[in-house]
Amino acid sequence: DTTHGRILYLEDVSVSFDGFKAINRLSLDIAPGELRCIIGPNGAGKTTMMDIITGKTRPDSGTVFFGSTIDLLRYTEPQIAQMGIGRKFQKPTVFEQLTVFENLELALKTDKGVRSSMFFRLDSGHSDRLAEVLETIQLSDGMTRLAGNLSHGQKQWLEIGMLLMQDPKLLLLDEPVAGMTDEETARTAELFLTLKGRHSLMVVEHDMSFIRAISEIVTVLSEGSVLAQGTLDQVQNDERVIEVYLGR
Ligand code: ADP
Repeated sequence: DTTHGRILYLEDVSVSFDGFKAINRLSLDIAPGELRCIIGPNGAGKTTMMDIITGKTRPDSGTVFFGSTIDLLRYTEPQIAQMGIGRKFQKPTVFEQLTVFENLELALKTDKGVRSSMFFRLDSGHSDRLAEVLETIQLSDGMTRLAGNLSHGQKQWLEIGMLLMQDPKLLLLDEPVAGMTDEETARTAELFLTLKGRHSLMVVEHDMSFIRAISEIVTVLSEGSVLAQGTLDQVQNDERVIEVYLGR
């Protein structure tokens, strides 16, 4: 349900580890179909924020809603994944001994949720989806290749494709272009621009040229809360942002 104009919102969320506030009264909104970039120095709380959204970490206080009706704090990590929140960690985790095609098929079968059983009942829909995902990740010509033989960039795209097989509403991506060549980075920017709209994306990234290429709203986290938000130019010229990056 996105009638209230946001697919995700966090309000006044806090979590401490051994008395240290990793997330400190964090509030954040993501609109349906939005592509949001998250930046911030090491230790700002970016990973912890994603852990909270996906149900891996429980906050001590605050509100986390998916759409306007689903209180995510009432659900477990697997339930949240089944609701359509996909997460990609920094390193690619594809099945190297399987082909591109088999990896994508497996992405449906490993999900025991309602969403995949729906796909299995609609067999033609399932193969249409596979073809569509292959096209999106630009691996249509490589579907019989072993995943282990793909370039680093192609492995990352394949893993994104595996997430797309579930048609997630929201994708959380941790440093998706880390280790990519300039050309792979540029192609990833194009890929993300085609994904937004149909999906909402939250991208944690340090690569400013990539952020510039997708040129979306940037949220700067520092010490567990939002320090600044705006276009890349706006946040890069913000005194407080300059200070947290240089003042370390
Ligand atoms: P970022 O991803 O922005 O680098 P993190 O979310 O990983 O930041 O970490 C935020 C802060 O919380 C860091 O100081 C980190 O050491 C601390 N932290 C994160 N997870 C834990 C944990 N499970 N136990 C103790 N401290 C943690």
